[in-house]
Amino acid sequence: MQPTLFERIISREIPSSVVFEDENYIAIKDINPLAPIHLLVIPKKVSSRVDEIESEAELGQLMATAIKVAKQHSSDYRLVINVGEGGGQTVPHTHVHILAGWTAQIGHQGM
Ligand code: 5GP
Repeated sequence: MQPTLFERIISREIPSSVVFEDENYIAIKDINPLAPIHLLVIPKKVSSRVDEIESEAELGQLMATAIKVAKQHSSDYRLVINVGEGGGQTVPHTHVHILAGWTAQIGHQGM
């Protein structure tokens, strides 16, 4: 199996801006930010898409990590998970988007 793009980022083969890392997760700045703050929380244990993760504990840990990282950057934020190509997923390695940094007046302008 070829390593996924995010595995290559985790191994530092591809450089990225790392904002958080522990034994199980890494969080990086998105290369093409869609918000003033746009981070990706990526499990080191590879799955192609979030609905392949069978363990509710792992799903909970992923969400808890995303919330922890988000709170380190903003009081208000969106968490987004694209699932499958039809759901907008372009990198087949599970990840959670953290989007934040809009002013309260403007909001995120969308769903
Ligand atoms: P998806 O569309 O799969 O939900 O999200 C993949 C995200 O990965 C996109 O927002 C895209 O900008 C980001 N991305 C793709 N390639 C790279 C890269 O090489 N480095 C970083 N930091 N982000 C990337």
